[in-house]
Amino acid sequence: MTMIGLCSICSRPAAGTCPLCGRLVCTSCSDPVTRVCNACAGKR
Ligand SMILES: [Zn+2]
Ligand SMILES: [Zn+2]
Repeated sequence: MTMIGLCSICSRPAAGTCPLCGRLVCTSCSDPVTRVCNACAGKR
């Protein structure tokens, strides 16, 4: 079994890492296409 970690935003099981900040994020907290987390997507 693989331990990926928890989402940095909602603490649910993460699905991947944000390519901009590198933090673990789940599908709900990141863009399904770019995988950019909501924290980075909210910035300009
Ligand atoms: Zn999340
Ligand atoms: Zn990010």
